[in-house]
Amino acid sequence: MNAPARPKKSFGQHFLHERRYIERIVAAISPRPEDFLVEIGPGEGALTFPLLAAAGKLTAIELDTDLIPRLQAQAAGAGELSIVHADVLKVDFTAMAHRAGMSHLRVAGNLPYYISSPILFHCIEHAAAITDMHFMLQKEVVDRMAAEPGSKVYGRLSVMLQLACRVEPLFDVPPGAFRPPPKVDSSVVRLVPLAADARHDADPARVYAIVKAAFAQRRKTLSNALRQLMDADAIRLADVDPKARAETLAPMDFVRLAKIGEEKAM
Ligand code: SAM
Repeated sequence: MNAPARPKKSFGQHFLHERRYIERIVAAISPRPEDFLVEIGPGEGALTFPLLAAAGKLTAIELDTDLIPRLQAQAAGAGELSIVHADVLKVDFTAMAHRAGMSHLRVAGNLPYYISSPILFHCIEHAAAITDMHFMLQKEVVDRMAAEPGSKVYGRLSVMLQLACRVEPLFDVPPGAFRPPPKVDSSVVRLVPLAADARHDADPARVYAIVKAAFAQRRKTLSNALRQLMDADAIRLADVDPKARAETLAPMDFVRLAKIGEEKAM
């Protein structure tokens, strides 16, 4: 057995050690031998080896070079572990699935919290090639992802995630379950990308620009917040009240606003 790795703050390393949470995560993922399962940030392998035992094979993406030899050593005889030494933000999940002759892959991970939002947005870009995602995140981030219109924490992350996925918060995990304990509570969430016929067909960059502008000044009315992008008449054309505030709009309202913007821009 290797001595435990010294966790590195710069890589957002908090290693999960409490068995009951590891078991709950693996049960939530419920891996099958036919899955193409990809783990982001295996660390010391807390989730990797139980997942490998259940699925028989696993691809793990790890940025910290120092952790790789120990993962490889522990994998001997445990199943087919393929370790990709890379920054997950540079990994093309769609190409990864296709290279393996698969249309879809499943993604899981106890994410490094310092880049959790970029990782979420990166995964959403590849949502069409992903069956589901199971992530450990800061509880506060999961609350924002799942928030409904009118909630204080409803914002950019809620709208962008909900336009791409069904967001299912699963359970909370206390700081003491990790080494070292993070300063915040954590939660496990399941994200299931929407089926092709349920996804919107607006330009994603345009939707993002509108959502970003609308929530940048959340106390302002939409006609004020979106002034640079569209006028009150265009907002009305999207069947949205220009005097409303962003926090009261449903995710699909932003899609309609983006589409009106697209038409006007043509
Ligand atoms: N899965 C392990 C566990 O549950 O104990 C470790 C989780 S730890 C919170 C996050 C892991 O992500 C670390 O192993 C860290 O080195 C890795 N990591 C950090 N930044 C990364 C990146 N950009 N790409 C891939 N892995 C990264």
